[in-house]
Amino acid sequence: MEIVDLKKWIRDIPDFPEKGVIFRDITPLLKNPEVFKYSVEKIAELIKEWDFDCIVSPESRGFIFATPLAYIMNKEFVPIRKPGKLPYKTYSISYELEYGQTSLEMHIDAIDKGEKVIVVDDVLATGGTTKAIKELIDRAGGKTVGVVCLAELTYLNPRENLKDLEIASLIRY
Ligand code: 5GP
Repeated sequence: MEIVDLKKWIRDIPDFPEKGVIFRDITPLLKNPEVFKYSVEKIAELIKEWDFDCIVSPESRGFIFATPLAYIMNKEFVPIRKPGKLPYKTYSISYELEYGQTSLEMHIDAIDKGEKVIVVDDVLATGGTTKAIKELIDRAGGKTVGVVCLAELTYLNPRENLKDLEIASLIRY
């Protein structure tokens, strides 16, 4: 496929989920099979030199990119979920969002000791979610190599929060 201007496939929604936030809505991109496939393949290309075994990703939009990536790159997939969703014993962490507060959980046996892990998400905003996930990976004894996303909101300075990680993004605002 030709080079695609992915921003054309992401819709800006002002004042969602609250006043002052511009939400980058990826549903138009997902609705186009060629553009979605192109995005996943381009993300895979961005990180093809990274040394890792496992992809960790938060529900729900993270899963949309993380699972096809795990599939095409032949890597493990570990889901990070909202409280009360995972059936086995979990590590749990609370953290601040761009808007509000939330918690995430990961199964305590999801990652092997010393395993190299990357985080995949649709959007990297403040970096708070990735930082919280890194803490869960640390508790499990894993090593977080980096984070890759479809879109990075540079005006929220996510890299400030993630100084010791590799960071890759397909598009930047
Ligand atoms: P952060 O923790 O980096 O501030 O926010 C990233 C998380 O919030 C990601 O899981 C992402 O799905 C969600 N998020 C925050 N802002 C946006 C946005 O503008 N668009 C989309 N699609 N997701 C967002």
